[in-house]
Amino acid sequence: MKPTILYCFAHPDDETFGCGGTIVHYHKLGATQILYCATHGEAGKTGNPPICTPDELGLVRANELQQAAQCLGINQVILRDFGDSKLAQQPLDLIIQDLIAVMEDIRPDLIITFPPSGISGHPDHKIIQKATLEAVGKTSFPTKLYYIVIPESMISLHPSNISTVPDKWVSKKIRVTEYHEQIVQALKMHRTQHLSVERVFPGVLDGDTSHLPEWEHYQLVLQR
Ligand SMILES: [Zn+2]
Repeated sequence: MKPTILYCFAHPDDETFGCGGTIVHYHKLGATQILYCATHGEAGKTGNPPICTPDELGLVRANELQQAAQCLGINQVILRDFGDSKLAQQPLDLIIQDLIAVMEDIRPDLIITFPPSGISGHPDHKIIQKATLEAVGKTSFPTKLYYIVIPESMISLHPSNISTVPDKWVSKKIRVTEYHEQIVQALKMHRTQHLSVERVFPGVLDGDTSHLPEWEHYQLVLQR
């Protein structure tokens, strides 16, 4: 089976940080992969030294996202402009209805998003999780919904400010060691975010892949 997969995220770079290896994995299996990104990431950093002005950041990050998506094997990026760090100010139903329309159009076999914690705790991550879960609940095509999760036993490998889940919640894991090269390329495409990249994976932009994950983990939330 060559699945169709929909990834639902909030910011350009969520896909590479969250599940870059998984995207490469499914690309190699011939999957059709669509990335929904709710904002242009215009509230982020512009780099040090700055790569652009704050006013230009949304457009620059939209381009970075296209390039990273290509490195990983995303077939289509659906980029919205709901406002970086402003998702909570939008009517939730607006995002839900948009996601329903996308889902009904694509009818993905798999849907992947953040867990309720947002992993990093970013409010936009929590909103996109909520909207995705509710949107799936209002559709009826056969699908599986997975959350990206970090199992408790892996916490020592990650920055300390992230949320984990009990290991027993993990229902699927994908080995991504062989995809480190593509993950590094995608991380490099998010040029304006080099400070975040170096914070999460120290040394990776200089070729040290020892902090990249060996596995990416998922919790099955819904199957029908
Ligand atoms: Zn994010």
